[in-house]
Amino acid sequence: MNNFREILEQHDWEKVKASIYAKTHQDVLNALQAIKPTLEDMKALLSPAAEAHLEKMALQSMELTKKRFGKTIQLFAPMYLSNECQNICTYCGFSLDNKIKRKTLSGLEILAEMEAIKSSGFQHILLVTGEANQTVNIDYFLKAIELMKPHLSTISIEFQPLETEEYHQLQQAGVYAVLVYQETYHQEVYKSYHPKGKKSNFCYRLETPDRIGKAQMHKIGLGVLLGLEDWRVDSYFCALHLHYLEQRYWQTKYSISFPRMRPAEGIIEPNIIVSDKNLVQLLTAYRIFNEDVELSISTRESEHFRNHVIPLGVTSMSAGSKTNPGGYSVAPDSLEQFEISDERSVEEIVKIIEDAGYDPVFKDWEKSYA
Ligand code: SF4
Repeated sequence: MNNFREILEQHDWEKVKASIYAKTHQDVLNALQAIKPTLEDMKALLSPAAEAHLEKMALQSMELTKKRFGKTIQLFAPMYLSNECQNICTYCGFSLDNKIKRKTLSGLEILAEMEAIKSSGFQHILLVTGEANQTVNIDYFLKAIELMKPHLSTISIEFQPLETEEYHQLQQAGVYAVLVYQETYHQEVYKSYHPKGKKSNFCYRLETPDRIGKAQMHKIGLGVLLGLEDWRVDSYFCALHLHYLEQRYWQTKYSISFPRMRPAEGIIEPNIIVSDKNLVQLLTAYRIFNEDVELSISTRESEHFRNHVIPLGVTSMSAGSKTNPGGYSVAPDSLEQFEISDERSVEEIVKIIEDAGYDPVFKDWEKSYA
């Protein structure tokens, strides 16, 4: 197989869905006892039958996470470089058809934003943009990284899908991780949410983690947008994707994020409601399936939810986030991508992590260690 697309094409969505929904309590118990859970076990852990075993799943996830990661939570802040975008995505505030004021940070503004974020203690920043290839392109990205790299220990990016050579350039410039979410693995449904722009090309997006892996990036982040399609089936395909990538690009680390749809200007309502209980099942299923994968929960989630999931398998959290370009200092009124839910300050997040008996970590990686 040359890429994950060829693997996905061998699977029928409806058949996979039927097999997840057919899993029994015994299948779940077998998955919980497996020394190395398989993809079939992952189906069982994601199934409706597993809901009756949530407490056991939570305990197992907690123990596995402590064993592999210790009692630590990595902290990072997103920094939006631009809200320009040439795509129509029906769930996003930056969508081309939203008549909002567009903003792209200049070099000086990038430095000012970075300093504002750093003043809260962060050494790890996740850079985020829309997709506007005329202005916010590889040259712009390399310039931004060049400006920021001397001042930070870790830079991750969540940009539009790029070519392998461009990822290689970014890796060489000091980028540590690339996050790219497939949104949904259901190809027909994907088209309805992405009617216009380069992002409407399902296959190009699907093959992006392969291009990132070929560029030898240190870490790749995967995920689906929870609320678009059946979360059990989409998450199974995401786990399949993770499994494929780990075997193929074995020197790369992996993370999974769990974005649940949030309100934003001009966007649609979720098609599927993913409850807090569902999200706990999903998070703990990933941990039991894969001891090494990093699991990240953002400020999309409520204070209550974030307080309670800290010990359940999470390894990283964003804090004090702004989802608009310039949101920390230079343009606080620019339009945000979505409303955040947990609006607590960085100090407050540090306190709840410590109160749970965990260590908040602002810096865990140095380029000199690579
Ligand atoms: S999700 Fe990304 S690509 Fe789609 S409209 Fe929003 S910023 Fe643009």
